[in-house]
Amino acid sequence: MKDVAIVGAGPVGICLARALAGAGMDVALIERARQDQLSTPQPDGREIAVTRASAGLLETLGVWQRIPQQQVYPLASARIFNGASQFSMKVDPHDPDHPLGVMVSNHLIRQAAYDEASRIDGIEWHFSSLKQIDTDAQCARLRLENGEEVTARLAVAADSRFSETRRQMGIAARMRDNGRSMMVCRVHHERAHDQSAWEWFDHGQTLALLPLTSHLSSAVVTLPSRQMAELSSLPSEELSAALTQRYANRLGAMTVDGEAHVYPLVSTYAERFVGTRLALVGDAAVGMHPVTAHGFNFGIHSQYRLARRLIDAYQQGKDIAAPPLLVGYEREHRLATWPLYQATQAIVGLYTDERPHARILRHLGLRAGERLSPARHWLAQQLAQTAPNRAGPTPLPGLPSLPLPPAPFPSLLFSGAPSRQQ
Ligand SMILES: Cc1cc2nc3c(=O)[nH]c(=O)nc-3n(C[C@H](O)[C@H](O)[C@H](O)COP(=O)(O)OP(=O)(O)OC[C@H]3O[C@@H](n4cnc5c(N)ncnc54)[C@H](O)[C@@H]3O)c2cc1C
Repeated sequence: MKDVAIVGAGPVGICLARALAGAGMDVALIERARQDQLSTPQPDGREIAVTRASAGLLETLGVWQRIPQQQVYPLASARIFNGASQFSMKVDPHDPDHPLGVMVSNHLIRQAAYDEASRIDGIEWHFSSLKQIDTDAQCARLRLENGEEVTARLAVAADSRFSETRRQMGIAARMRDNGRSMMVCRVHHERAHDQSAWEWFDHGQTLALLPLTSHLSSAVVTLPSRQMAELSSLPSEELSAALTQRYANRLGAMTVDGEAHVYPLVSTYAERFVGTRLALVGDAAVGMHPVTAHGFNFGIHSQYRLARRLIDAYQQGKDIAAPPLLVGYEREHRLATWPLYQATQAIVGLYTDERPHARILRHLGLRAGERLSPARHWLAQQLAQTAPNRAGPTPLPGLPSLPLPPAPFPSLLFSGAPSRQQ
């Protein structure tokens, strides 16, 4: 019998497997994608804002060091626009020696996580979908589509916001389909940006522009799903022209680089994060709306919160699926995520409301924010997570304690995604 069976080898599932196996536990990792899709993940358009704390956790796992530093892009500042106005609220880093944040492509994180986990003994990889899961007081039994069976002391669902494991275990989730889709793609532009991230709550659409190299950015467009189908089906040249127009030519002509990717905007929050010999992590527990760019960051923290408890119990020879342990994990992760989940829903509501009073409220909010420098400094501090004396993560048992990386990041409002309408 395995110690832990993890369903889903996304970035969160792989990092959890790496943490547990690194501490000597016997782990089964079940993934429906083919092995070659996992070992050489292709770009998926997502540029992730990784918080300083998350980067620290990735570093303790040996993952951060595997991300090519020349493909980590700093955010010098951020600007928030409302409607057609040229006025923007600018947020500069609290500490001028550190950028406000950095962007990293999702496929590079996944590649680094896979490369690190695949060199660790103690992970048994299964490339198949979960077919059925049952748990009782003794163990969890998982049947896979390819006929294999896995038994484990604990099953962990890390299989996305639409988690099949969660559904089969009878755990309900709040789901909010925003009726909007988000398109992400890289664009070259004529004029250089000033390394600012833009979040632009325009009328009828939400746009973001995330700076990469000086004439290259990640464009993020959020639209009602029907309009998105039209936009995303345009041939490359027409799409480039359409984006130049949507971004009001502010950086000159734009040329799409590579493929555009479209994601539905669905937020989820599981009603329970644990059950009998079961725990939920990553998007399976909390699937954030991307506007606050915390989905991945919450996910990495969920695996850390669970791994810390599991490794501790394992090393003491205790039951790793004991109810008090699982309840403690659930309580900690819920407390850490519920306020921002709710705040995100409120932000989405305000910034996607097309009624005149909401537009005025947004405009007044940005003007007030610009005048109140303590407010902007506070915001910058939250974005960069550079509060003085902030402690790094407690090292996982069995893993080295490493300092936080020098420059990172994050994001409250800008980073991967904007959104507007709900
Ligand atoms: C456009 C965009 C921008 C974003 N930007 C940011 C950002 O700036 N900052 C941030 O923190 N977050 C961001 N996010 C969110 C972030 O990408 C997710 O939170 C993160 O990928 C979740 O990781 P995960 O491992 O939990 O789940 P996933 O990445 O969804 O992985 C789940 C895995 O489970 C597998 N799986 C599913 N079902 C089964 C099954 N039945 N059997 C076996 N395997 C299964 C899947 O194949 C997949 O590999 C963004 C998201 C989007 C869409």
